[in-house]
This record gives sequence, structure tokens and C-alpha cells, in this order.
Amino acid sequence: MPGTELFGQEERKEVNDVMETGMLFRYNHDQQRNGMWKAREFEAEAMKITGAKYAHAVSNGSAAIAIALASSGIGAGDEVIVPPFTFIASVEAVLFIGAVPVFAEIDETLCLSAEGIKKAITPKTRGICLVHMCGGMADMDGIMKVVKDHNLILVEDAGQAFAASYKGTCVGLFGKAGSYSFDFFKIATAGEGGIFVTNDEATYKLADAYSDHGHSHVGNNRGMEPHHVLGFNYRISELHAAVAVAQTRKVPQILKANRRIKYAMMDILSQTEGISFVTLPDPSGDSATFLNLLMPDTDTAKRTVDELNKAGIGGFNYWYTNMYHFINQWDHLKNMSTVAKLPVELVGSSQDYNNLHLPKSQEVVGRLISFGIRCTWTDEEYKALANNIASCAKKAMPVMA
Ligand SMILES: *Cc1c(COP(=O)(O)O)cnc(C)c1O
Repeated sequence: MPGTELFGQEERKEVNDVMETGMLFRYNHDQQRNGMWKAREFEAEAMKITGAKYAHAVSNGSAAIAIALASSGIGAGDEVIVPPFTFIASVEAVLFIGAVPVFAEIDETLCLSAEGIKKAITPKTRGICLVHMCGGMADMDGIMKVVKDHNLILVEDAGQAFAASYKGTCVGLFGKAGSYSFDFFKIATAGEGGIFVTNDEATYKLADAYSDHGHSHVGNNRGMEPHHVLGFNYRISELHAAVAVAQTRKVPQILKANRRIKYAMMDILSQTEGISFVTLPDPSGDSATFLNLLMPDTDTAKRTVDELNKAGIGGFNYWYTNMYHFINQWDHLKNMSTVAKLPVELVGSSQDYNNLHLPKSQEVVGRLISFGIRCTWTDEEYKALANNIASCAKKAMPVMA
């Protein structure tokens, strides 16, 4: 959790700015706020890092994906291709804007593959919710070709890939709209927060209104603003935005440290036969928040996890058995256990979520073990960790006949 490792004076100062005026609301009240516009500043910092033409800060990353989908024109009954490996928010966002998720295969990039997307397309497919997983990025050249050939709407959930890029463009900016999360576990945190991004002005205006009950945000009398569309409340508070401003400014420094540490650990681990790494379509754009190992097969990965636990080594995720990140554990989705009826239950899905055939995703996630990189690790700390991981992996490797 790199951002949280660097909490300091900078975050405190930004929060105090807000406390001094007491203006916790992001809009209007120009006199009382004494020039403090933290949500706007957060957006400006996010635009500086990503190069997005438009950014809009909201309450969290889950809201940001829902806003990205809706303002891109995806709605009730539309099929949206999603990955089976993601933080479940991406799938929930599709469901809660009224659309229908259709699962497709990921590959060694940990993201949807162009091949997988192509196979999941039906006459009802409207768009793709592409998720850039574990700090890395999808194979964008291949995916953009499928998007264009089939005239699909691409929305990117870059919740855990803020500042990651592919051939010079930040992930989140390839499609119509994208989103980033600033929750407590991300490269930079607001406590709770998210950013919506797009390069398209019309999409931005829709997102800006949709996230605040349809308010046009024109003029300085909130009560008299016209409402051209219906919306909801996904606003961020100035307190959260204040923390995010200070944290976002630290991202370039975090990136540098993460990358140095991750690649040094990969050098050590690549000397152990049987350990390989996930595919990074553009290694120079890695946000390097995770070191992602691929073991030869699922059984070896499970034995490695056992060895790591025996050795008391924490700080890793074995997503294959994790409750929130892989479809195998999503019984509530498979059984459609909802609090109240969702549109998908009325329109139905072309997929039976209880009988999905996703062998490639099962194989890749079964082999994957991810270690969160800490940007404050000393050379001694990360070297010792890499050596410990290597020795656990060696004990777990299958014995060659
Ligand atoms: C963290 C995350 C989210 C959700 O973000 P919140 O800010 O926690 O709502 C969505 N998608 C992915 C891929 C994430 O990792």
C-alpha cells in the first residue's frame, strides 16, 4: 500500500486547509472557502499525471466505473464483456447500471485478451469493461483492433493501475472513459475516492452531471442550476480530496521506488528455475505495485503458498482462493443473491454464470502469486524477501523424474 507508507506533513497541511474554512463541500460557497478547491486540485493533479483532457473526482473507484459505463452510453440490457479476474466492483458496476456482464478469458497479462473478447461477442454486446490488473496493463494494440472491428464501447477500470501506461498513453485513456480508485489499498489513497477520466468533452459533461443529481455546475446558485439529465450522488468530500491531492503528488516518487525494487526482486527470483512472471505488454509503463509470479502449475502454486505461510512470509495474495477477486468464489453472483431485483434478472443473460467455461483464466490465476511492493523497503529488506520467496518456491517445485 505505497501511498499509506508516505503519510506525512503534506497530507496534514491539505486537510488543515479545509478544516480552517470548514468548507467540506466541493461546489459553490466561493466566499467562505477562501480559495480552497481541493476536489478541483485533485483533478488537476490526476490530469497532470495521466495526461487526460478531463478528470472528475468522485466518492470512490466503484462509483467511477459505474459513471464511466453510464456516461459512455451503456445501460439497461446491454451486454458488457468483463473479466473473471478483477476486484468484483467492475462486475457490480455493470450490474448496477442495469447492464449484463458476459465473462471472457484473460491471459498471462492478467487482463482480458483480444482473443478472449472476440470469442465472447454476441449480437447484444455493447461494450467492454477492461480491467488493468495488479498494477500492469492489457495488450492494448490487440484489444483496440477488436474494439474498432466490432464497433464496441471500451471502458477501462484502471482501479489498480493509476499512472500505468502502454506505449506512452496512460491506461484508462484508450476507450471512451476510464476510472481509477484511491481507496486505502491503492498506489495513492484518499481514504475513499475515485477519479473518472475521458478525453471526450461530451462524455465528461455527462459524467459531471450524473455524479451530482444532474447538476450542470454552471453559475453560482446551486438551487437554480438546470438539470438536463437524471443523476445520483457520487460526490467526493473536500476532506477526502485534500488527502488525495497530497498523495497524488507523491505518485512519481512512488513509481520510481516501486519499479527499482520490483525489478531488483525479479532479478533475484528469475534465477530460480520454474518461477516466471506475468506478461507486461509495455514493461516501461508498469506501475509496479505488485510483483506477480507465475508458478509452473496450480498445484505448485498452492504448495508455494503453504511454504510461504510456514515460513511466516506475509504480504502476498493468492487470488485463486481469494473471496473478492476471482469468479470461483463469487457464489452470490452465480446464485443471483440480490438485495432487490436487478435488471439482469428481468432481461436474462446469454451466459449461465454457474457453468462458465474459462480454462485459460483458471490456469493463469491458479498459477499466480502476487506480492505487494512497499516503496519504503530498504535494499536489505527486499533482498531478504526475494531470497525467502525463492527458497519457498524451490521446496514447492515438482521433483523432476
Ligand atoms: C479497488 C478497485 C476498485 C474499487 O475501488 P473502490 O475505490 O474501492 O470503490 C475497482 N476496480 C478495481 C480493479 C480495483 O482494484
